[in-house]
Amino acid sequence: MKYPKIRELKEAVTSLVTPAFTTKFPGEPHTPFENFRGKPEVDDNHCVGCETCANVCPSNAITIQDDKKRGKRVITRDYGKCIFCGMCQEHCITGKGVVLSDKIFDLSVFERDKLVEKQERQLVICKHCDAIITTDQHIHYMHDKLGPKAFASTLNLNLLNDKLQLARKEDTDVEIRDGLKRKDMFNIICPNCMRSVLIKYI
Ligand code: SF4
Ligand code: SF4
Repeated sequence: MKYPKIRELKEAVTSLVTPAFTTKFPGEPHTPFENFRGKPEVDDNHCVGCETCANVCPSNAITIQDDKKRGKRVITRDYGKCIFCGMCQEHCITGKGVVLSDKIFDLSVFERDKLVEKQERQLVICKHCDAIITTDQHIHYMHDKLGPKAFASTLNLNLLNDKLQLARKEDTDVEIRDGLKRKDMFNIICPNCMRSVLIKYI
């Protein structure tokens, strides 16, 4: 029989007379400490659907599906796959789109579907080649960040009009026919189509 070492014996005696470090959860409610990394909470008013969090999520808990027919981006967050790493919060471009809760951590459910949340954002789609540019909210967020510099881009000019209402929609919404022309610079076209107009006409 091996005798315990003095150090281990001392630790055993000390732990007998000191309070436990572990909690009695789930037998008793547990209050996590400040800045504990719990469930990511999305703020719909500050999430612009930019896709950054989906790109940095290491467990693929966040996925993006773009539905061109409906013109919607669907962001799906499956908290059954989430490892509470906090990368989505750290890289969120608005800084407020998603924040990890330091209160909600117990996500036990009987049906996994209950841990899935979905959001929808309006897509901005190139009117010439049908490529997805980004979301409407993302562009407007960039306008706010850029301030007057946003007027430097013709794509921005068209979308800024949504907010400023300087021209009527029917005057700016010009149909693209027989290939791209110079006038189409003021339409909603993707950077690739814009480049081909610039190279051809300017
Ligand atoms: S906390 Fe980590 S794993 Fe969970 S959704 Fe955010 S990035 Fe993904
Ligand atoms: S990074 Fe932020 S703003 Fe972009 S989709 Fe994720 S939560 Fe929304």
